[in-house]
Amino acid sequence: MTERAAASPPPATAIAPDFATLPRRAEASTRVNLVGLTRDGLSDALREAGVPDRQLRMRAGQLWAWLYQRGARDFSEMSNLSKGFRADLDTTFEIRRPEIVSRLVSTDGTRKYLLRIAGGHEVEAVYIPEEDRGTLCVSSQVGCTLTCSFCHTGTQKLVRNLTAGEIVGQIIVARDDLGEWPEPGRRPPETRLVSNIVLMGMGEPLYNTDNVRDAMRIAMDGEGLSLSRRRITLSTSGVVPEMRRAGEEIGALLAISLHATTDEVRDRLVPINRKWPIAELMQACRDYPRLSNAERITFEYVMLKGVNDTDADAKRLVRLIAGIPAKVNLIPFNPWPGAIYERSDWERIESFAEIVNRAGYAAPVRTPRGEDILAACGQLKSASERARRPRPGIAAGTGP
Ligand code: SAH
Ligand code: SF4
Repeated sequence: MTERAAASPPPATAIAPDFATLPRRAEASTRVNLVGLTRDGLSDALREAGVPDRQLRMRAGQLWAWLYQRGARDFSEMSNLSKGFRADLDTTFEIRRPEIVSRLVSTDGTRKYLLRIAGGHEVEAVYIPEEDRGTLCVSSQVGCTLTCSFCHTGTQKLVRNLTAGEIVGQIIVARDDLGEWPEPGRRPPETRLVSNIVLMGMGEPLYNTDNVRDAMRIAMDGEGLSLSRRRITLSTSGVVPEMRRAGEEIGALLAISLHATTDEVRDRLVPINRKWPIAELMQACRDYPRLSNAERITFEYVMLKGVNDTDADAKRLVRLIAGIPAKVNLIPFNPWPGAIYERSDWERIESFAEIVNRAGYAAPVRTPRGEDILAACGQLKSASERARRPRPGIAAGTGP
């Protein structure tokens, strides 16, 4: 996500120049998908398929490299495996990625993918190119159960958790689309197109911790997708009991969707707050493994006009995070059809940022990216779900 000083309004964007729709495919596969299996899971699957124990390590290593370093789509590409073995693999296993149903490219270069996964469900992933890095915003669930009142995804009822293969598959599909698989014999370029991952797409990653963990382990594996742990950020709305385990088992950088400084307001914006209120959330942040100045927590704060954007809020925010190595990401509210909030005025955002800054915390304002294609934070929602109405009950309680 791009950050910049709160000096000028965001640039205007125009309608997407590039829209591609691919035909949908019927699916009826009984073969086991190799994408998303852990290293141990891959070995187990091969053993079950009859690969002798003494070959397991080698075979798993070969397949792992084809899947995640070369981006193989088909066993026939695996030139260092015998034809017979490739044919055996093909009868039992498959290499299945999410299918790109449509791809929208914003005038600012942001790409939004609508992806179709097993069962005909759809999720979105967003690629955000910047000068020195490229960030892929990845979904963890189809929809979200957590009805935050300012979030488009929250208006879609949860259909299901994504599998590890569907989560890591989003990275693979983005690399396919960007043409980022190394050519044989060529060294990969220093700056990768997909260099950073943010778990900030659809869904609450800590309601799907195991699958997110398995997928991120493949992403971080030096012989897998080989992304640095410190370039992966997991954003949670505050699932307190899962935070420590996420730190220990995934170890990604943590982002917290705070968005309010009193329980009264946060209860209305982020309803999970009624279960785990601000004080408990802050304690879990202080207890987050590996927390240090080099690995700060990002507090996300959506700027909602007249709801959470006063100077008093900014001062309370600073007191809440006192002592936590942190930075604050101010996110101007991104509107969506039917939303009941408005974005705070630019002067208000600047004044808020100034207070947080003076207290010693970086407080960049996140430039909305891909607004013209509804790809900005909180705007994601499967196209098939987009026609649904906003929830009047929540709207009534949280209006500005
Ligand atoms: N469910 C997780 C991760 C996905 S949301 C979470 O809530 O943290 C990614 C970020 O976008 C969150 O901080 C979320 O609160 C914020 N967001 C949601 N809707 C938004 C909107 N309409 N405008 C700006 N930010 C929004
Ligand atoms: Fe779910 Fe996050 Fe949206 Fe809340 S902000 S509804 S937790 S995706």
